[in-house]
Amino acid sequence: MSSTEEIYDSPIWQPFTQMKTAPIPLKVVKGQGVMLELEDKRQIMDCISSWWVTIHGHGHPILAEALYKQAQALEHVIFTGFTHEPAEQLARKLLQHLPKSLRRVFFSDNGSTAMEVALKMAYQYWFNQGESDRTTFISFEGGYHGDTIGAMSIAGNSPWDQPFHRLMFSTELVPFPATFDNDADVEVREAQTLEILTRLLKQNPTRYAGLFIEPLVQGAGGMRVCRPQFLQALGNLAHSFGVLVIYDEVMTGFGRTGELFACLKAETAPDIICLSKGLSGGCLPLAVTVATEDIYRAFYSDDVSKTFFHGHSYTGNPLACATGVASLELLEQNPNFRNLEQQHRCYLKKYLPDHPKIDKVRTCGTIAAMDIVTDSQSGYFNAIAPILKQRFLAEGFLLRPLGNTLYLMPPYCITSEQLESIYQAIRRVLDTII
Ligand SMILES: *Cc1c(COP(=O)(O)O)cnc(C)c1O
Repeated sequence: MSSTEEIYDSPIWQPFTQMKTAPIPLKVVKGQGVMLELEDKRQIMDCISSWWVTIHGHGHPILAEALYKQAQALEHVIFTGFTHEPAEQLARKLLQHLPKSLRRVFFSDNGSTAMEVALKMAYQYWFNQGESDRTTFISFEGGYHGDTIGAMSIAGNSPWDQPFHRLMFSTELVPFPATFDNDADVEVREAQTLEILTRLLKQNPTRYAGLFIEPLVQGAGGMRVCRPQFLQALGNLAHSFGVLVIYDEVMTGFGRTGELFACLKAETAPDIICLSKGLSGGCLPLAVTVATEDIYRAFYSDDVSKTFFHGHSYTGNPLACATGVASLELLEQNPNFRNLEQQHRCYLKKYLPDHPKIDKVRTCGTIAAMDIVTDSQSGYFNAIAPILKQRFLAEGFLLRPLGNTLYLMPPYCITSEQLESIYQAIRRVLDTII
């Protein structure tokens, strides 16, 4: 069945997939909790919450019920000049949990569009106030913010954007002070980044519109973790030069870091926050970009040219919003995302202590990551990734390494025994790869 001669006889062109060399996609017929059931009845454990979205697990009855009820009442309606209860409720509920300074909720459809909205909002914020020199953004090496041109432009030299460089606008990149267990030099690296940034800001104090960061964990860049202290210092520095701070919590939001949002864990509030992935509980595409009152006021005017002219056909989709409300209620009632870090640490110690093939272990809330030691260079195209992926699949686990970075990001409903079984599989696989 895994023969490379087999042809995928389908009109579908899959995302992030080299269709010629990738294995045939597996057909999933059912999802229940952390388990996926394939057409041939095989059971696969989803150790990465699909594409980091399925926070409560698959097939959650409460989310299904919310979706069904809303579908019977109103499936969709134009979201300008009209509104509806699921969007109103979701916006209010979100604000109850976010830092108090974040006040205005702008809906869109996915993480990339949430970033585009933030980019345009920050840019026009300065334009509307006549500060049209503030046109450059700052972001971090290793950062990932989505696949649209704007989101690619603020990413940190991703290996995927090579063909598009001439389409992208230029952004000032600074090093991300990634840290890990037993890291002796983190403070030095943090100080270096802050120094580089200070120099930039001093050279051109009125050039920068905003600074983008994935707070606490860079996702697609390799699950790289930074410290709360760094985020606090970063925010203070940016703000002292008037630069807007934009948190991309598309992945870190909704419990991933062990708190409901990374900004709460780091005790520092951005000017704009972008949320998607877990927002609808992993059921439907939905995103928000939430801004401060100050930003909102720069658009609020009798002058129509100050309007934020942005929107999408499916903005604020009622089905997605209704599942979003139900998902947030589940997180409020059962904050089991708070318990996973301790379990990760326990099993890391039990199954992988000082393993010669493992380097730079890090945990943050529900996420655990480690680099696999290989002969070839680290990075996304490291040849170990597809090999590991296939080995884990054969063992019944969906794990999808980012290059030589192996990470776990399970749905929060995972039991301790299920989590332990993943670590046992990692140990088995690492002990047998060359
Ligand atoms: C996934 C992701 C995005 C892009 O979201 P899409 O819904 O895939 O467009 C942006 N930022 C971060 C941090 C992400 O993890």
